[in-house]
Amino acid sequence: MPCTVVKHPMVEDVLAALRDKKTPSDVFRMLARRLSLLLIVEATRDLTLTKAAIETPLEKTTGHTIADRVVAVPVLRAGLGMLDAFLELLPRAQVGYFGLERNEETAVARRYYEKVPKDLEGAFVFLLDPMLATGGSAAMAVDGLRELGARRVRLLSIVAAPEGVAHLEAHSPHTEIYTAAVDRGLNDHKYILPGLGDFGDRLFGT
Ligand code: URA
Repeated sequence: MPCTVVKHPMVEDVLAALRDKKTPSDVFRMLARRLSLLLIVEATRDLTLTKAAIETPLEKTTGHTIADRVVAVPVLRAGLGMLDAFLELLPRAQVGYFGLERNEETAVARRYYEKVPKDLEGAFVFLLDPMLATGGSAAMAVDGLRELGARRVRLLSIVAAPEGVAHLEAHSPHTEIYTAAVDRGLNDHKYILPGLGDFGDRLFGT
């Protein structure tokens, strides 16, 4: 399973600000969106195009439009911080939601909500889950998508831990990961180090 670490000076710059504990929620939200834009551009590089006849103010020509059926699936709630960016770049995408809640004691995820378009067989599905920590919730979401027929699933994470990458690789070798960083590892509470803390809390100010 390929894990692509998107390398770009703008990615590094935004990531540094996201990691900074002094960054307030309003700025964090804006930066999460900005970093998501950069990841999404890279992760959609191979979308299929189809030719389209268009007319400029001067003459007829041929353009290209995106032919794939694209589905974005943010994992609630942190994944919502990546959705606006996705829909800005791919406004015709369908959107599904997975509600996964991590037990703070065991770090084991529980699926509590699901509203995802059916018949995902031909779709190109982008799972939005900003922190790939143990990989447990990402693997659970990928299972749910595959149950709905998804064959092409890409996970977009802002920060990943080596443990999460390895877990997903073992569990779902067909899922590709795009991330801005693979960090050092997890602490005893399964938070990513150095990481950026609890993404959902920082995004929503909780
Ligand atoms: N979820 C988070 O929000 N942060 C982590 O470091 C790990 C999981």
